[in-house]
Amino acid sequence: TYIDADRRLRYTNETMRSWFGLDPQAVMGLHIDDVFGLESTAQRSAQLALALGGERVEFEITSTLLGKQRHLRSIYVPDVGPDGRVQGIFTLSIDITVMKQAEAQLARLASSDALTGLPNRREFDQALAGAFARQRRQVREGRVLALLFLDIDRFKSINDTHGHGVGDPVLREFAILLRRTVRGSDHVARIAGDEFVAVLEGLNRPEEAEQVAAKIVEAVRAARPADVAITTSIGIASVADGEVPPPDLIALADRALYQAKHQGRDGWAALRWPGPDLRA
Ligand code: GH3
Ligand code: MG
Repeated sequence: TYIDADRRLRYTNETMRSWFGLDPQAVMGLHIDDVFGLESTAQRSAQLALALGGERVEFEITSTLLGKQRHLRSIYVPDVGPDGRVQGIFTLSIDITVMKQAEAQLARLASSDALTGLPNRREFDQALAGAFARQRRQVREGRVLALLFLDIDRFKSINDTHGHGVGDPVLREFAILLRRTVRGSDHVARIAGDEFVAVLEGLNRPEEAEQVAAKIVEAVRAARPADVAITTSIGIASVADGEVPPPDLIALADRALYQAKHQGRDGWAALRWPGPDLRA
């Protein structure tokens, strides 16, 4: 479009018809408030003011046009006369809805595990960083953060005995079960083959993490995902301190998992920060 200094439409193309259902000829000379509606122009008031003040602006905005939500990229270019005054603005809007959807889809794919739909390792690392930041703020309230490392017992033999056609659904059902057993606000992720993690935040005591782990162990034993009897081992690392480096807490949970496996699997082991010296 071309909008003059009095905010009247002086030019518009056929897009006026497809996006707004308006005849381009019929809107010529009308004020933009009357063509697009007050709400729409108010949404763009800052950009309109800048462009009419002589500045080129480029921005993205979401508009519902004829009941359809469109994500638009708009560019306003001022039309500066020989006297230096802005006579109007050229506006160009491109519908980038499809591109935005593809972008969102890519972001989802990059952050989730294709088999279970759970967040993947990359997403988990980010969630963990957020959890540690919150823990630092909650230290004074005596809150505890716990990291649970879960690994399905003898999963390789399930694959070997029944094939991946059974192994895969077992992993999917395990993920659903895990998601259901912890709180909605807890983070759960699949970080490798049969390895899962859960971050429990804002606990009152480390024992609460142990209760959750015991509940998961029980639930897995009772579940028989894909008609296969499975068990899981869980390593718990809990911390009440705000300054623990995340890799150290991860290493502690890994060590606890190793203990749980050595104690005969189908159970959990818990370690608290500061734990045993891991460099030994
Ligand atoms: P442990 O009790 O010590 O954990 O024994 P395990 O047999 O479970 O040993 P481990 O955890 O090392 O084995 C994990 C197995 O998970 C190895 C691999 O065959 C299987 N696996 C990894 N990714 C997938 C997957 O996407 N689908 C299926 N079906 N199996 C997978
Ligand atoms: Mg395993």
